[in-house]
Amino acid sequence: MGIEALNKEIRTCIRCRLAETRGKALCGEGNLQARLILIAQAPGENEDREGRMFIGPSGKVLDELLRRVGVDRGEVYMTNLVKCFLPRYRKPKRDEIESCSRYLDREIELIGPKALAPLGYHATRYILEKHGLPIPPKADFRSVYGKVFEGDERQILPLQHPAAALYDPSIMNVMVENYARIKVWIRQ
Ligand code: SF4
Repeated sequence: MGIEALNKEIRTCIRCRLAETRGKALCGEGNLQARLILIAQAPGENEDREGRMFIGPSGKVLDELLRRVGVDRGEVYMTNLVKCFLPRYRKPKRDEIESCSRYLDREIELIGPKALAPLGYHATRYILEKHGLPIPPKADFRSVYGKVFEGDERQILPLQHPAAALYDPSIMNVMVENYARIKVWIRQ
């Protein structure tokens, strides 16, 4: 199955309860030959309405981060752990992640990147777990951001989700330092 067939399946998916409340199930987008995939948690309200990745306030932060580290959106592939909007921005439930992560796994197989950059807690937890890497306790979880982990086939660079800077703009400079590492992979 190629990416188009996969996306068609995502757009019509009713595998979990989020199908009842979503607008549009959001497929990944970007460079299909990308060396790095950015993996966010789930679409926001704007993305749910328009069916495009990172077009709301978090998208503005992401664009600013990429601009500051000198990376173009077209150089990466972007997707979500959970493809449908989470009502009232609640956390994803374990069974929703279990139902939906098969799509992310397939996207990773199809794109075949050298590195994965999960954004924020849930995407990072899923990717570390999937690669058999240790999960830090929640209280200490921030320590993983900006560190590189060796998976079997690819490297993993957990990063703060762009939305984190909406709540605490003072972390923007640290985020820029961490995001700067993605340039190394995509330009190798
Ligand atoms: S969240 Fe994923 S599994 Fe659930 S309905 Fe949407 S696409 Fe399907």
